[in-house]
Amino acid sequence: MTTNERIEIEANAMRKATKLLTDNFVKTPEDFNIENILAYSNCLLMEEEMNNTEGRITISNSISIITVNKMRNGGFRNYIISHELGHKYTSELMRTFVDAGQFYRKNTAEETAANQFAAELLMPKHFFTEFTNGKELNFELMNSVANKFNTSLTSSCIRYAHHGEVPSAFILSQDGAIKWSAISDDFENQNLINNMVKSQAVNNYFNFNVQTIGEREVVGSDWIRIDKNYKNGTVLIEENFYMPKYKSVITLLKEAD
Ligand SMILES: [Zn+2]
Repeated sequence: MTTNERIEIEANAMRKATKLLTDNFVKTPEDFNIENILAYSNCLLMEEEMNNTEGRITISNSISIITVNKMRNGGFRNYIISHELGHKYTSELMRTFVDAGQFYRKNTAEETAANQFAAELLMPKHFFTEFTNGKELNFELMNSVANKFNTSLTSSCIRYAHHGEVPSAFILSQDGAIKWSAISDDFENQNLINNMVKSQAVNNYFNFNVQTIGEREVVGSDWIRIDKNYKNGTVLIEENFYMPKYKSVITLLKEAD
């Protein structure tokens, strides 16, 4: 997928989500009701015990069936369902999609489309920027975004990296390794380390189950590769959010003034 293809796929998915909201008279985030949207879309929702799978959709031109992992609830459940619905609205094919692991960050054309659709359906851009602009960026804000829009914390963070006003990077680490990052275009240091975590705070969590609370200053090389673009003396503001259930940490990085 080239950059232009990705932009086209995302724009198309956004249009589809916006149209679905308009057709269902959703004018504010409070009007949104996933059950109504599913009924309108001829989708039947089922819950199932699933091993290592979060959601699935079997698309048909009569009734499509969405199945969600019964262990998931709240905003993450809502995000999974919206993502599956995204496959129905953005795929031309009558087929089954199965979503597991960090499906919300997979970058194939089909998953990019479904994720962009879900983000726009749950967090329409103008409501998102209205809600977040002027507020201090930290995990308290990210949790209030997840509550306000009834979506997952990770999807709120990814949305912020792409549409929030403060340059930021969000990084998910699992079992001591970096799994994905979402970085603002205007974040000065785009060159993040892309495999093992060097952050002391994050490694203390994986090795000693010690958590840090709040923001702290860290040296840039904890997260940024040292190469010709690296500025000596770079300082970042790091905040971590721990998710023991998923053996994961999300790190928020901001640039120090
Ligand atoms: Zn998917």
